[in-house]
Parts: sequence; C-alpha cells; structure tokens
Amino acid sequence: MKIALIAGTRPEIVKLAPVRDAMNALPDLQSWWLATGQHGSLAEQAMGVFDIVPDRQLSLNWTKSSLPSLFARLIEGLAEEYERSGPDMVIVQGDTASAYAGATAAHMLRIPVAHVEAGLRSGDLANPFPEEGFRRMIAPITDLHFAPTRAARDNLRAENIDDDKILVTGNTVVDAVEALGDNDVRPAALDDVAPGANIVLVTAHRRENWGEGIDSICEAVLDLRGRFSNTHFILPAHANPRVRDAVNQLLAGEPQISVVDPLSYPEFIGVLKRSSLVLSDSGGVQEEAPSFGVPVLVLRERTERMEAVKAGTALLVGTDRARIVTEASRLLADPRARLKMTKRGNPFGDGNAGIRIVAACRDFLQSSGPAAPKGGLLSRLGLGTTSIAMAE
Ligand code: UDP
Repeated sequence: MKIALIAGTRPEIVKLAPVRDAMNALPDLQSWWLATGQHGSLAEQAMGVFDIVPDRQLSLNWTKSSLPSLFARLIEGLAEEYERSGPDMVIVQGDTASAYAGATAAHMLRIPVAHVEAGLRSGDLANPFPEEGFRRMIAPITDLHFAPTRAARDNLRAENIDDDKILVTGNTVVDAVEALGDNDVRPAALDDVAPGANIVLVTAHRRENWGEGIDSICEAVLDLRGRFSNTHFILPAHANPRVRDAVNQLLAGEPQISVVDPLSYPEFIGVLKRSSLVLSDSGGVQEEAPSFGVPVLVLRERTERMEAVKAGTALLVGTDRARIVTEASRLLADPRARLKMTKRGNPFGDGNAGIRIVAACRDFLQSSGPAAPKGGLLSRLGLGTTSIAMAE
C-alpha cells in the first residue's frame, strides 16, 4: 500500500516527519514523499533534519506568482504526479496552499484523502488568511480526519462530518519534539547571550501581521529591552523577505537583541527549551512550548489553538505594542507568574500521534470502507484515543 505525503512548508515537514517514520516501520506500507517547494530552502533545511529525501519535487516559482495562478499550476503538477505514481491514499497536513491543492487533486482523481491536524478553526476567514479557508475546504473532501484534540474533533462534528471518519490522535508536533529527545543542540545564536541572562524567543511571520503588526511587535521588543537589562531577545527571521526586511530594519545590531537566520529545527528547539518566555504568532510554536514549560504570549488577535490558552500556558495578546509590553513585563519581572503558566504535560498530544494516524490509514486501506475503523491495528497497539491526556 503506497501512501503519498504532501508537504511544502516547514511546519508541514516537521508535522509529517513522525507520520513517515511510523509508516516506514510497517513493512506493508510504502511512504512516497512529494515536496511542493512552497518554503524553498527553509523546507529543504527541515527535510534534511529528518533525513527526508523527497521522491518527487515540484518546480514552481513560489515567490513570483499570485496565489490563484500558483494554485492552478500546483493542482496540475500534483495531479500529474499522482497519475504517474498511483498512490492508494494521499495525506495532507494543516492548512497551506500545498495541503489544499494536494487534497483537491487527489479528490478529483478519486484517491482517498487523509487530513492530519484536521478541525482547527478560528471562525474567521480573514484570520489566518488564507489558511482558515483552506482547512475548511479540505474537510468535505477528506475520508479520514485526524483531529489533534477533542476541541478540533468537535469543530468537525459541528460541520456535520461523520463521526466514523474522525480520529483524535494528538498533534504530531509533540512526536517531533519528543523524537529529538536528548539530542540537545546549543545553537550559535546563544553565543551573544550574557551568562545568566533570561532569553525571550520571538517569532513573527503571519500574513495578517505583515506591515503594522510586525512593526509594532519589533517596537515592543525595543521597549522591553529598555526595561530588562538582564534579558536577551532572539528573533529567528523568517525567510519571507517582507518579514525579514522589516525585522532587520528595526532590530538588527541592537544590543541584547539577536536577529538570526532561520534556525534548523533542533537549533530552534535548543533555544526554545532555554527560554523564559516566547512571543510568537506561529501555530507550531504554541504547540511545542508547553512540552518545555515555556509560557507563550500569542501575537494574534485570535488563535485556533485555544487548548494552551485554556490550560493557562498561553495568553492571547495580539500585536498592540503596549499590551505586549505590559504582559511580557509582568511575566519577566515575576518568576512566580511564569511558573503559574507552566503545567505538566502538553495539552496538544502525547507523542503517539504518528502511530495512531498510520494505523488508522492502514486499517482504512485494508477494509477499503468509507469509515475509519477504530479497531484493527490501532486497538491491537493499545492506542485508542482515551489514553491521550488532552484538554477539552
Ligand atoms: N521553526 C524552526 N526554525 C525557526 C523557526 C521555527 O525550525 O527558525 C519551527 C518551529 O519549531 C515550528 C515550525 O517551524 O515547528 C513553525 O513554523 P512557522 O512558524 O513558520 O509556521 P506555523 O506553525 O505558524 O504554521
């Protein structure tokens, strides 16, 4: 049984790597990795970390095309690859153009679709844009929905997705973090940090924050630097030139602030686990930080990952400069306030999501039925969903 994994962006690669590893452990499944090239060198770096050599790589010009024309060529390229290699199933992850095109092309060719990280919803088509639309449109053409949490499952139920097609698996990003295990990487980015200084990790890249939002986040970092002399701010700049240029213009070369090139995944986790606080608009970072007990201030007006906010490990602050400074100052000044935001365990998963997903895909292909069998390999592995200690 041949299963295609479609990935274009760094987070898709991080989150599908555990699925591929689980698949490769089963002799009757063959993984077939198709890289769409959406994140260019960032994606290549991430694939290198997980020893992924794509079976096929699309060559589209992602930077110079409008989203609609890119999407049209993406569908065409993916469909050609599917027809050539004939996968029995296609797995897409998340909410990118690659994921939506990957699912759509498969649906048109009547190839079953499985969706990893299904059911995330902000309820606002403009936020995050275009991702909220993409993930909503993937749902009706999906045969197996792998919801990372029960809240995600409930979102799918509310859209009348058949319960038999949904499996709560945990988020595969927790598997990815755990797979790094004791492989602790101390990135060069830490060399500029004074001994004993607190570290604040800052990431911002979302399209809704381009322009005013990114500027306001950078200004908040400058304010905080002025208030906390024993704190160092590390900003891995996103590869997107609009984001990188804005961040460099406002912050590069400033004392106590390091604007660095995108970090490899183990390097990024190496900084994250040493941080006292994270300021981020990233989805993946919100899910990873709880594994290390690091509080997150979410630089977005709303998040589809309310599990961390409900568990008290993340706080939604948006991009207002004063609000960021107030909340970050409160946490940086008071270690007990930070401690209150750390909890044991990660509300997003237990590190076994990849195995659950692959077992369910295998059972589905063996039964060729319309519903996701919840028995079969999954229960033989003792990996029902009830063992996941995840927030409602
Ligand atoms: N990440 C990384 N290096 C960096 C910044 C982020 O490896 O310099 C990882 C991070 O750990 C997370 C993923 O990239 O797993 C998040 O990607 P991004 O913020 O681009 O996208 P999002 O999660 O918002 O979709």
